[in-house]
Amino acid sequence: MSDRIEKLINSAAGKKLLGAMGVTVATDLQRYNTSQSSYFAGTVLIGAGENAKLLNNIQTNLSDSDAQIFYSPDAATQLGGEADSNASSERYQALIFDGSGFVDATELVSAYRFFNTNIRKLKSSGRIVVLGRPHMQCKTPEAAATQRALEGLSRSLAKEVGGKGATAQLITVAEGAEGNLDSSLRFILSPKSAYISGQVIKVRSADTAAVADWHKPLAGKIALVTGASRGIGEAIADTLARDGATIVGVDVAPMEADLNKVMARLNGKAVIADITSADAPAIIAKALSDLGGADIIVHNAGVTRDKTIANMSEQHWQMTLDINLAAAQRITTELLKTNTINDGGSIIGVSSMNGIGGQRGQTNYAASKAGVIGYVDFMAQSAELAAKNISVNAVAPGFIETAMTAAIPLFTRMFGRRLNSLSQGGLPVDVAETISFFGNPSSRGVSGNTVRVCGQSWFGA
Ligand code: NAD
Repeated sequence: MSDRIEKLINSAAGKKLLGAMGVTVATDLQRYNTSQSSYFAGTVLIGAGENAKLLNNIQTNLSDSDAQIFYSPDAATQLGGEADSNASSERYQALIFDGSGFVDATELVSAYRFFNTNIRKLKSSGRIVVLGRPHMQCKTPEAAATQRALEGLSRSLAKEVGGKGATAQLITVAEGAEGNLDSSLRFILSPKSAYISGQVIKVRSADTAAVADWHKPLAGKIALVTGASRGIGEAIADTLARDGATIVGVDVAPMEADLNKVMARLNGKAVIADITSADAPAIIAKALSDLGGADIIVHNAGVTRDKTIANMSEQHWQMTLDINLAAAQRITTELLKTNTINDGGSIIGVSSMNGIGGQRGQTNYAASKAGVIGYVDFMAQSAELAAKNISVNAVAPGFIETAMTAAIPLFTRMFGRRLNSLSQGGLPVDVAETISFFGNPSSRGVSGNTVRVCGQSWFGA
């Protein structure tokens, strides 16, 4: 019954009715498919504040796409050319603004002018990208404040364009890391980032490897995915395999048949282990070293055991913390100790929006998922990982349409999935695309990030 009501609501007639009732109707988001010839196609307008430092990198990046590029007068002047006279009549698939040169708050007005003039011209499912510098690396307090201001600007732009399925993000690029912008810009401009909005992606210096084929960026890589038999873990396995990786999938014994099915489809290797068991780290290390070591480690396996803390058993507290947090750390420690993560590899944790904002009845879950973020923050500064050029990041999914969310009662679910700027739930593939972006060898400069995949949820930081 609830399926039929949902189908009706999602039909063209249902959407029309909801619209007439004043309910926000979600725009269908464009997602990536392997037949598209490049990561981005369409018109893009590039704007810039004073002394913009990333314009050449943006141009190099877009030269590998099917973009038709226009420049604002400011950007054109800094590039030594004329602004395109057709620009004013165009509508754009993307607006990119380079604010990397801002050092004083009064200069921000050029960002205001750019978006004031052009934001109405952004197409449905369009992209806004603001580029800046990490504020804590600025030379003066005024510059730091101005760079941090770009975050408030981009998050607010995201809220203003979300209704048409468009997104906005800030990418900060450390001085000297300009050459590492490429993978982040590709990801954010492409349909792969459909359900990410209002985020900040930090790019820093690191040796990155070039990608020969952007439709197979993980070719030749070995990826570990825990909890790979279903849900988000299955989508991660599918997506990393689509992108060229060989998958080693882990799950518990009761899920063996499902895991075998997924691994058979992907030509991967199934490993049956409870990640909390004492021998799991060694079993996983052995499975990976048999394949020559792993390049991408995805700690996806997770559980919820919800109750308010007064009613929660210690067993459910401990179990949730162990599966979602401590087991992943023990496995990472073992893989590092046994040199099973290859140089230039990537470690990825799966956090949650509720780990950021907290949730009633989820003290155990939210603590575990906040712990994932703390682990990433700390490990991104680790000399051991830096010496091996290993990046470490997390995704924090919001409302993702899985078996878990399908079990929520219909009207709560309908309400829950709308509480974000894109007015809809995300798909498991949206989380998986973000993980593939982190795992991409050209993303080594992307480390210490927790990227929310939540359509800019109204809750959390
Ligand atoms: P799911 O329950 O469908 O899948 C979790 C998988 O992990 C299952 O295959 C399960 O068997 C496996 N697993 C659980 N305990 C294990 C253990 N001890 N050892 C090995 N494998 C184990 O859940 P999902 O919705 O696909 O979630 C995947 C991850 O995403 C989890 O970490 C979850 O917390 C996180 N997440 C999900 C959502 C969402 O909306 N679904 C939102 C935020 C975060």
